[in-house]
Amino acid sequence: MERDTRDYASYHESEEYEKRRAQRRRKRRQQVMIARICVFGGGLLILLVIILLVVSLVSKQGTKPASGEPSGHNILQKETYLVIEEKPDIDVQLLTPNEYSRPGIATETITNIVVHYTANPGTTAQQNRSFFEGLKDTHATSVSSHFVVGLEGEIIQCIPTVERAYASNQRNFDTVSIECCHMDETGKFNDSTYNSVVELCAWLCCKFNLQASDVIRHYDVTGKSCPKYFVDNPSEWDKFIQDVDDYITEHAVKKSKEDHDSYYGIGEEAVTPIAQQPTDGVGD
Ligand SMILES: [Zn+2]
Repeated sequence: MERDTRDYASYHESEEYEKRRAQRRRKRRQQVMIARICVFGGGLLILLVIILLVVSLVSKQGTKPASGEPSGHNILQKETYLVIEEKPDIDVQLLTPNEYSRPGIATETITNIVVHYTANPGTTAQQNRSFFEGLKDTHATSVSSHFVVGLEGEIIQCIPTVERAYASNQRNFDTVSIECCHMDETGKFNDSTYNSVVELCAWLCCKFNLQASDVIRHYDVTGKSCPKYFVDNPSEWDKFIQDVDDYITEHAVKKSKEDHDSYYGIGEEAVTPIAQQPTDGVGD
């Protein structure tokens, strides 16, 4: 026993003992270090995952449509500015500013394009434009339209889109109106008129960052049977909207906001006010 104790003591005092103790200490320190690295690395990983989750949530929220707004496509279109570079052949014949047909009141942000029919079979675009112009003298009624599309597909512009037309009643303030000529009482557009209206609607949709389904009938505003053929035949209206959508898909190109605005002259058109401001809200 004595010898053992002595051996033990001498072993403790020996260099070998010190070396092993140092080795054990180093090993322990290494283990502690590894444990710390593991804890720190794990924490960092968790933090990274949380950051990624938050970022993806926030970006999803950013592209989420506000309540009441149509989903998906609409938002995409609002972010990617579309331009149809083949401009429709528009014959600009602005009306004389007057309180019966060109009241000189600014439109607000355009949110819909409203399609009408003249309800006057066989009349031309020029005749309808002359009727609007004549109202400044006849004072017969208050009515007009931004555009009139004729029987040969001709497009006459009567009012700049920055100004209100008297066409769509309570929606004159935020819509652009298109009057369409037709041959008979059914109100059906012939092919030339139809094609020009599709082209004009598509071009305007891109101008105002709208989608095809933002083109509506006067009927959708007031319940009036206008444009009659498309109220009587809702599936034909659906086809019309599809044709506008197809036209946009086939002809529109993506542009920067600056290029879009400069192509469409956004901010360049000015309202021509008239001396006496009439009451808004009338239609045909
Ligand atoms: Zn109408």
